[in-house]
Amino acid sequence: SSPASNGGENCCVKVALHIRPLIADERAQGCKDCVTVVSGKPQVQIGTHAFTFDHVYGSSGTPSSAMFEECIGPLVDGLFQGYNATVLAYGQTGSGKTYTMGTGFKDGCQMGIIPQVMNVLFSKIETLKHQIEFQLHVSFIEILKEEVRDLLDPTTLNKSDTANGHGGKVNLPGKPPIQIRETSNGVITLAGSTEVSVSSFKEMATCLEQGSLSRATGSTNMNNQSSRSHAIFTITLEQMRKLNPVFPGDSNPNDSMNEEYLCAKLHLVDLAGSERAKRTGSDGMRFKEGVHINKGLLALGNVISALGDDKRRKEGVHVPYRDSKLTRLLQDSLGGNSRTVMIACISPADINAEETLNTLKYANRAR
Ligand code: ADP
Ligand code: MG
Repeated sequence: SSPASNGGENCCVKVALHIRPLIADERAQGCKDCVTVVSGKPQVQIGTHAFTFDHVYGSSGTPSSAMFEECIGPLVDGLFQGYNATVLAYGQTGSGKTYTMGTGFKDGCQMGIIPQVMNVLFSKIETLKHQIEFQLHVSFIEILKEEVRDLLDPTTLNKSDTANGHGGKVNLPGKPPIQIRETSNGVITLAGSTEVSVSSFKEMATCLEQGSLSRATGSTNMNNQSSRSHAIFTITLEQMRKLNPVFPGDSNPNDSMNEEYLCAKLHLVDLAGSERAKRTGSDGMRFKEGVHINKGLLALGNVISALGDDKRRKEGVHVPYRDSKLTRLLQDSLGGNSRTVMIACISPADINAEETLNTLKYANRAR
């Protein structure tokens, strides 16, 4: 069954800003903090520009520790009610996307959104498992140059090829590419990607850790661990709930009317760096990758802005999901009854002011 409404919430996209502190490297270069949080408001100023978001975390805004409770917890709760959800970390390379999402998970580290989601998920399951039967699956893919790559592919895991300059894997020649498909009832599936069944925090953490190691990275002069791919960690929760019979004695154990089945997924997305290709001073090939990355981010911006525009939504305006692999993959989890949180990550350093301003403008458009 699929839920009819998302509990009266109209706006389907929430935007939070996460400002990281100046890092050692920036301090060493003598960078100054150029982002001001307006006291008592979710508003920031940079130069003469001011932007307001749903929440502002870090710097002198709300402490980052509140982010999970305010922005992500409700999405995990929604998952148990059958609502799909998406969390997107947006920003230039080095702005804190991976730190915020916790995509670069290493054993023992409980930091970041994904490990916290896992914690909450398993403790909720623990309290409900006597009434409800749960099944959990994870997949972990990346989109690089408009191609979907499986980060959990068992045939290539632990065979990372550093000689290709990607520090990651190349898909085997004979392996069919992963395809994004849509079922007749609008469910998006990834044909050919690995779905791992997990039943504990540890099992899920292993998937996260192994996939992070496989993620393609390349070096540019912005950051030598620059990430040009979108990494998408997806948790699918299936629930089979026995409903109490209306009249005691009426229950028939074989009657499927007395069972409720719910399936929902949560996409946790560490987006590619949003910096403009020209700033990376890269060669022709990198530039091509830059163009493709921008295609996903561009399409995402257009989809989110179409969804956020009530007037256009009521007029049934076309939402351009099909313009990129990223938006196509997220189609059933962006808009409709789904909940979406975009976390725009920024550096407070003056040398990053231009890209920070670009991020603030992009995120502002999403509201
Ligand atoms: P991105 O994934 O956007 O390229 P990272 O998450 O790798 O950026 O962060 C860049 C650097 O900044 C890393 O050294 C990271 O540890 C540090 N960093 C990011 N966010 C924070 C934060 N909130 N507090 C402290 N350090 C941070
Ligand atoms: Mg990163």
